[in-house]
Amino acid sequence: MLSWMLSSVINGVTALSGENKLSVLTYHRVGESYNQLCMDEYLFEQQLIWIKKYFNPIGLTEALALQKKGKLPRRSIVITIDDGYVDSFTTIFPLLKKHNLTATFFISTSGLEKGYLWDEHISLIIMTLSVDIEEFLFEGRTFEVSTYNERIKCAKEISDQIKYCSLNERETLIQKLVKQTKKIVLKHDFLNELQIKLLYKQGMEIGAHTVNHPILTYEKSDVAKREMLDSKEILEDIIGEQVKYLAYPNGKLGIDFDENNQNQAKECGFDAAFSSDWGFINHSPKDLYSLKRFTPWDKSEAKFCLRLALNFTGYYMKLDK
Ligand SMILES: [Zn+2]
Repeated sequence: MLSWMLSSVINGVTALSGENKLSVLTYHRVGESYNQLCMDEYLFEQQLIWIKKYFNPIGLTEALALQKKGKLPRRSIVITIDDGYVDSFTTIFPLLKKHNLTATFFISTSGLEKGYLWDEHISLIIMTLSVDIEEFLFEGRTFEVSTYNERIKCAKEISDQIKYCSLNERETLIQKLVKQTKKIVLKHDFLNELQIKLLYKQGMEIGAHTVNHPILTYEKSDVAKREMLDSKEILEDIIGEQVKYLAYPNGKLGIDFDENNQNQAKECGFDAAFSSDWGFINHSPKDLYSLKRFTPWDKSEAKFCLRLALNFTGYYMKLDK
């Protein structure tokens, strides 16, 4: 579709959707990784270019303040990056700078010390199994692991199996997995304190994403609150400023976090908290502690932009990937 035509369709759709609405985009890793949510670097940069061309990218704090006053420009977009892997600094940040954009980075602080989060740990264990291993037995299931694709599938299935466990159960299962495999040295693949400081000093915003990335509804209430508060305090110590926003791990309301967790986020002193449920943020949102976001993946300019424009209307276009 020609640029001018696409531009007028986007303007039409977003004008119909009404004033003062905000779409918050979620990204995870960018570049090379076994992570299922990792985006190709070229596509990420393309999407940044399209966002600049057709929408109004803006910082999170500024966007929420303008929205409160009813002065948010039409087609406003906020970029958020979840988890805190090192590509946030080495790949994502340079591209944001290159295109004069800003983003909010939601960081799970256990990664600072460990170098990765639990699901990436599982992927690394499975992907680096000795090449002569063709079958892998775990918790009564046998997985084929002779090829690269079989290993990706095995890692995904084991991660899915372990995801909906409490932190204690998760750790027990991961330790079983570690015992079963030869000791592998995992490289530190996460942001460090200096990189977080530099991101912040260079105009990026830093948000909390708990310590251990648990499913909050699977934890005792006090543990869930600690997870949120500790990550907030650790990040505040690093940047020397208040951390105002939280993104819930996994982030589906009613599944991964609930009303109790929303109240806890407020008690912890967060100004707002984000889910991973799809949608936009309306003028004076009913609940600042379950703000919706949107995950873009389209590889074509027209599909990406149309789907994003439609996100402002509350309708989601069922376009083929
Ligand atoms: Zn996450």
